[in-house]
Amino acid sequence: MDNNTSFDLLVVGAGIVGLAHAYTAASRGLSVCVVERDAMCIGASIRNFGFITVTGQPAGDTWRRARRSRDVWAEVAPQAGIAIEHRGLHVVARRDSAAAVLEAFLKTPMGERCELDAAREVADQLPMLALANASAVLHSPHELRVESRDAIPRLAAWLARALGVQFRFGEAVLEVDAPRVRTSRALLNAERIVVCTGAEIHGLAAPALQGHPLQLCQLQMMRIEPHAGFKLPGAVMSDLSLVRYGGYAALPEAEALRRELEDDEAASAALLHGIHLIAVQSADGSLVVGDSHHYGDALPPFARDEVDALILDELRATLTLEQARVRERWVGTYPTSPHDDCVIETLGDAVRVVVVTSGTGASTAFGIAEDVFAAW
Ligand SMILES: Cc1cc2nc3c(=O)[nH]c(=O)nc-3n(C[C@H](O)[C@H](O)[C@H](O)COP(=O)(O)OP(=O)(O)OC[C@H]3O[C@@H](n4cnc5c(N)ncnc54)[C@H](O)[C@@H]3O)c2cc1C
Repeated sequence: MDNNTSFDLLVVGAGIVGLAHAYTAASRGLSVCVVERDAMCIGASIRNFGFITVTGQPAGDTWRRARRSRDVWAEVAPQAGIAIEHRGLHVVARRDSAAAVLEAFLKTPMGERCELDAAREVADQLPMLALANASAVLHSPHELRVESRDAIPRLAAWLARALGVQFRFGEAVLEVDAPRVRTSRALLNAERIVVCTGAEIHGLAAPALQGHPLQLCQLQMMRIEPHAGFKLPGAVMSDLSLVRYGGYAALPEAEALRRELEDDEAASAALLHGIHLIAVQSADGSLVVGDSHHYGDALPPFARDEVDALILDELRATLTLEQARVRERWVGTYPTSPHDDCVIETLGDAVRVVVVTSGTGASTAFGIAEDVFAAW
C-alpha cells in the first residue's frame, strides 16, 4: 500500500457507485483514494445481474444516466479486461395486454431503435424463447451485460493500475470530518469526500439521509445450468417486468396488464413477492436468473424456496429450457425510496453522499458520478 495520506478525493465504498466516482475524478487528473471496509467488494455490486439496462428505465434522469453509463462501460470494459457477455434485450410479452404496453412504449422517445414483432413472426429466429403461445417480442439494442463478480474487481484493479487510484481494502471509515477522515487504521485527508456506502443507510450516510423515507429491499437470485448448447440472444424479460420497470409501468396501458396479472393465480403469487424475470447468460453458458423484492427496515438473510420456485416457473414459461439445474443461490440488498432512484446529498462544501435508492446502480453509476462532479 502507498503511504500517501492526502488526496484530492476520498471515496468511501468500493461498490460500483464508489468506483464510478473514483473513475470520473481520476480520469480528470485528481488524486483519488478508495476506502472499503471489506477485503473485497461483496455488496450489491457483485450480487447483481451485471445487466446495464437502458430500455425500461424510468424517463428523465435515470434513463439519461443509464445511456451515459452504458457508453462509459463500453469504453472502459475493454481497457479493464472486462468482457461484455452479451448485448441487447428481448422482452417476451405472453399476454396481449403486455404487448399493448410495449406498443405504447415504442411510441415514446425511449422506444428509439427498439423493435416490436408479433411472436409468430420471430419464433423461428428465436428458438430459445417460448413463443408458441406468446403475443409479441420487443427487441432493444441498447443493453450490455458484464459478469459483475468478475467485472468489479477488474475495474478496481484497472483504476489502480492505469489511473493511479489508491485502494485501502479491509479498512472501515469510522468518521468523516472534512478534510479529515478517520478509518479503522489511519487518519487520512482529502479536499473532497464522497460517501458511497450503499445499503449501509444507518452508518456514515445516515445524517444525510434523514429526510428520506428509505427502506431496504432484498432480492433472491440464482445461477442456473441450462441444457448443453442453450444460448440466449441477450438479456430476457417478460410480462411481470412491465409492471415493475418504471419506463413501462408508468404508461397508462400498464394498468390493464396489472389487473390481468392480479386475476391470474400464478402471476398474482409472483406479484406478492415482487417477482419479475431477468435472465442473462455467462461465458460458461450458465444463466443468472431472478428476482424477487421483499421490503423492510432490516431483512433476515434467509432465502425462501417457494420464492425461487415462482421465479423458476416464470423462467420456464419464457424460455425453451429442457433443464434448469440450480447451481447457486444468493440474496442481495439495496436501499429503496418511494420518490427517488438516487439520492445525492451535500454535507458542507466538501462532502457528498451518493446512494442509489433503486435497483439501477450498475446501469446508472457512471452517469450519476458525472452529474455529481458537474454540480460540485
Ligand atoms: C440482487 C441484485 C440485483 C441487481 N441487479 C441489477 C442490475 O442488473 N442492473 C443494475 O443496474 N442494478 C442492479 N442492482 C442494483 C445495483 O447492484 C446497486 O444499485 C449498486 O450495486 C449499488 O452500488 P453501491 O456501490 O452503492 O453499493 P455496494 O455495492 O453495496 O457498495 C457499497 C460498499 O460500501 C462499503 N462500506 C459501507 N460502509 C463502509 C464504511 N463505513 N467504510 C468503508 N466502506 C464501507 C461496503 O462494504 C460496500 O462494499 C441489483 C441489486 C441487487 C441486490
